[in-house]
Amino acid sequence: MRSLNEKCAVIGIFDHTEASKLAYFSLHAMQHRGQEAAGISTSDGEKLYTIKDRGLVTQVFDTQKLNTLKGNMAIGHTRYSTAGDDSILDAQPVFARYDLGEMAIVHNGNLTNAKEVRDALIKKGAIFQTFMDTENLIHLIAKSDQLHLTDRIIDAVKKIEGAYSLVFLSRSKMFAMRDRFGFRPLSLGRVGDGYVVASETCAFDLIGAEFIRDVEPGELLIFEKGKAPQSIKVYEPTPKHCIFEYVYFARPDSNVYNQNVYSMRKAMGKELALAKPVEADMVVPVPDGGVPAAIGYAQASGIPYEMAIMRNHYIGRTFIEPTQEMRDLKVKMKLSPINDLIRGKRLIVVDDSIVRGTTSRRIVRMLKEAGASEVHMRISSPPTTDPCFYGVDTPDKDKLIASNMTNEEICAFIEADSLAYLSNDALLRSVNAGDDKYCTACFTGKYIV
Ligand code: AMP
Repeated sequence: MRSLNEKCAVIGIFDHTEASKLAYFSLHAMQHRGQEAAGISTSDGEKLYTIKDRGLVTQVFDTQKLNTLKGNMAIGHTRYSTAGDDSILDAQPVFARYDLGEMAIVHNGNLTNAKEVRDALIKKGAIFQTFMDTENLIHLIAKSDQLHLTDRIIDAVKKIEGAYSLVFLSRSKMFAMRDRFGFRPLSLGRVGDGYVVASETCAFDLIGAEFIRDVEPGELLIFEKGKAPQSIKVYEPTPKHCIFEYVYFARPDSNVYNQNVYSMRKAMGKELALAKPVEADMVVPVPDGGVPAAIGYAQASGIPYEMAIMRNHYIGRTFIEPTQEMRDLKVKMKLSPINDLIRGKRLIVVDDSIVRGTTSRRIVRMLKEAGASEVHMRISSPPTTDPCFYGVDTPDKDKLIASNMTNEEICAFIEADSLAYLSNDALLRSVNAGDDKYCTACFTGKYIV
């Protein structure tokens, strides 16, 4: 079964007269977490309204559509998934009518036992419309023999394993739940007289919300009109936050797991400069991912920082294209060198990660063609050796270059003069933690569940 709800953003707005619009702006701020589809469900207390479609947030919604999303409560989602799975049914929120009325769910993360749960449900006669893990939850909630929705949600999440930051909407309430490991981020804020939950705090900044705290791992929050959010500890928290949010995924202006992402990335660059120095004329980031780490590297090494590679911002991320040919083409469309700056110079090029090696190889070639005399690749994370099962879209192990080649072989493949990665210890130091608090499985192969 395909798992399509990877690397997404979720939002929930509770008790605000402009709920659908605030959800829209929040999703816009978190567009980097998923560009394939977007959707919003609202409730006016009587009925749920849903609009979702393929495309960017600005393509899916306009004022007229937002006005038809009535009510003071809204949940929303942007989806990131592998290209080719283009069914609109796979967009979120997932809406359903059931014996207690109507509900809608948005989900960021990947359930590790989704197949088992789905197979068991199908055996009992359930009919599925999508390939999304999220649909499991709808069935589990609808089938639960508990009387109240809160108890049914608890019942349902006890049957699922893996990574999830969830927001549920019923006609009168909103719920937010984070898995016990807190794999994916989820923060709680105050907006006007109401509340907001969002994958990233950059959404709060845009809509003028005030950060309250992160939703705790294993915590269920219940939002009810006229009451402070009620908290239920469904699981003892055992934090294993995804460290890749700091490395690549989250926006630098967000505070994720209570720390600012930009500062974390800069610290990674500093660590990298100290551990893997090399003589050169300038430090060049691969935009946008490599920028904060390159600044950190430049400051720590004293080598000038130059934006010698320009990025065309009207191209989506290159990663999502299914064929190698298309990926190569998209890298070319996306990044171009400033020839005059580069000619005859020794460059340190900083990127956040190497996955398949396509991007790095293309960049090194491009810089050499532009006249660079040396290109030294510096990667602000450890080698990506293992796929993620908790929501970050990584290819299978056999396509991860670092799981099949040594450092020297990768360096030769990308045609660089040298290549060095940040060590796992240095990465953990950069984010102020020992590895007991973070999931580093993509770099270490140590899986949590
Ligand atoms: P690759 O060409 O496969 O080596 O991809 C490496 C590039 O993809 C780097 O520039 C990263 O910034 C970016 N990247 C790393 N992980 C992801 C991901 N999960 N989704 C999209 N892009 C990624």
